This record gives sequence, C-alpha cells and structure tokens, in this order.
Amino acid sequence: MKIQRLEVFHVALPLIEPWRTAYGEDPVIESVLVRAFGATAEGRAAGCATWDAWGEATPFGQPTYSPETAGTAALVIERSLGPAVVGRDLVDAAALNERLAVFRGNPFAKAAVETAFWGLLCRQAGQPLHAMIGGADGEVPAGEDFGVCDTIDALLGRVGGAVEAGFGRVKLKVRRGWDLEVVRAVRAAFPNLVFHVDCNGGYSLDDLDLFKRLDAFNLAMIEQPLAHDDLLDHAELARRVATPICLDESLKSPRWAEQAVRLGACRVLNVKPGRVGGIAHAAAMVELARREGLGCWIGGMLESSVGAAVCIELASLPGNTYPADIFPSSKFYTEDLCEPAVTPRRPGVFGVSTGPWIDYAPSPDRLARRTLRKATVGA
Ligand code: MG
Repeated sequence: MKIQRLEVFHVALPLIEPWRTAYGEDPVIESVLVRAFGATAEGRAAGCATWDAWGEATPFGQPTYSPETAGTAALVIERSLGPAVVGRDLVDAAALNERLAVFRGNPFAKAAVETAFWGLLCRQAGQPLHAMIGGADGEVPAGEDFGVCDTIDALLGRVGGAVEAGFGRVKLKVRRGWDLEVVRAVRAAFPNLVFHVDCNGGYSLDDLDLFKRLDAFNLAMIEQPLAHDDLLDHAELARRVATPICLDESLKSPRWAEQAVRLGACRVLNVKPGRVGGIAHAAAMVELARREGLGCWIGGMLESSVGAAVCIELASLPGNTYPADIFPSSKFYTEDLCEPAVTPRRPGVFGVSTGPWIDYAPSPDRLARRTLRKATVGA
C-alpha cells in the first residue's frame, strides 16, 4: 500500500462540562485526525482502486496526560512522520512502524498516522479492523466513568444511575481530598458493585497507608496510583497491598509493558492505542496480558467516534478481561465529529464494526467547525 497523501486536522471539541482528574480540568478536548489516501500497485496499474481512511489520536490540549499535545502531534506528523511514510510502498503496519521507529517518543502522533494506515489496509482487504487483528464479531462490554464531582451525594446519584442502567463496572477518578471517603461512601451504598479508582499518577509511596486502607473496599483494581513515568515504586506498592495494581500512563509501549510485568509492577494492563503508538502495539500488549494471565482492558481518551470505534475493535481481542472505557459521545460532547456517532446497543454494550475498517467518519461541516489548523503532506 502506497500512502499518497495525509491530511492532518488539529481539532478542539467543547465538552458539556469540564473533565476533572488528578492533573486538572479540561474544558475542551483537543484531538488530531488524519485522513490517509492510498493505492496499491495493482490498483494503480488498473487505473483505479484508491482508498481513503480516517485515524485519530487524542493527547489533549496541554501536556498533562503525557508530554504530547494535539498541537505538537499535528506538527510532528506534518514535519517528520508524514514525510517519512508518504510516497512509500509499505506492505503492512509493521513496515510502517519500522519507518516511524527512527523518531523517538511521540506515540500519539504515530498512532494517528498508523491508525489511518490500518484503515487503508482494511479497505483494501474489505474487512473490519477486528477481523484484521484477531478480534471477535459481535459485542464488547464497556464500563461507566465518573470524574471528580462537586459533592459525594452528586456522585452517588450518578453511580446509582449507572447501576440502574445495567453497567457491568464503574470507574471513579480520585485525587487528594476526593479519595478514601468517596470510596467508602460508594461501597456503602453499592455493596456488590464492581468498581475501581483511577489516580492518574497523583500519589506517591508516602501514601502507602491510604492504599492499604483501600484494600478494605474490594476494589477491582487501583489504576495508575503513582507517577506517570514510574515502574519500580509501583512494583513496591504491588507487593504491599492486596488490591491489584493497574498501569495506564506508565505503560508507554509494549516494551514498557513487558518490563512492568517482569518487575511485578501491575496485574492489570490499561491499553490505549494513542498512548502506545497505535493499533499494532496496542494489540501486542493485549496479547502480552493474555499470555501472562493478567487482566487487561481498553482505555479511552474521550476520542470522537473515529477513535472510539477503533477502541471498540481492540476491545474485541481475546486478551481483554474487563469492560472498556468507551462512551457514547453524547456523554461528553454537545456534538460529535461524526454523524451518526458511536452509540451503544444498550448501556455498556457496543457493537463492533460491520463494514470495511470502521463504520464512522467525520462529517465535513462539523470537522470544518472544530478544526483549529489543517496541514497536508504529499501531493
Ligand atoms: Mg487512567
């Protein structure tokens, strides 16, 4: 498959309410969409068969989740990644990733390009993504997430709504001042609820006492309790508490995941295609979890329906053991980029794609309204 052209869109999607986590508040979500145009040698010889496909990665507007932002990712694609792959015949995603490997870091930027390239491969094969990567047809389970709320009562009301709707699990964002008492209140109100907390790296080993006290509440896991770039302290914490530790920010690539597993730093992997450089790396990490008998689930970055649809496909891989972070975009956004948008079949259940690649693409009007900057690589 030869990539003929990449169009890069840096977009900003306004949220219904700010997304509050341990690292701050986001009033809008900034994302990068890549539209790839490609053709095969056979297609070119026959004078037809060009394809186009959309990819997305969502590192946010500020470097708070990771060192990347949507602005830097768009620029890195335009200046470095795009020129390295446009005009090249690349047989598969491994060949593309080999071209990109010379550039250090920037996994979100790489993921946006790699994802769009998978789209071209899927269109050529006439297959949905899950069929190309070993996932299953049918449905995938997703959980419900809640950020920091104004009051515990407000949170309990929301959790109650999720329980009533039938969600299989709930995740609570916690941060200092919004942790132990919140967990205590939720467990008291919902004795049988499967739920876990996501700390977004907001604590240190000095908080060992807090984590030991959390053991009393039968949490499914504690997600990313310690620093975003740490493995050793997580391994120490994992030895000292009973609740399984899940890593998110710390698992920057399949290599980091292998090292985390060897160190005993986590018993559960949160896999996000953007954070680890794309679909092939994400699938490799799900497979690592399956091989090692660890927990695994697909995380989300509040992507538009393009990114969310890719996460649904990844969530159908056999190594997943826990409901994914995939949401109807109406939970966060007044308006998705896509029309129709990703919608659950019922609360907490999404269907995998039925057509080639994924079933969603941005609507041109909506994309134009949300685009901060557009660039093109290639003729
Ligand atoms: Mg997380």
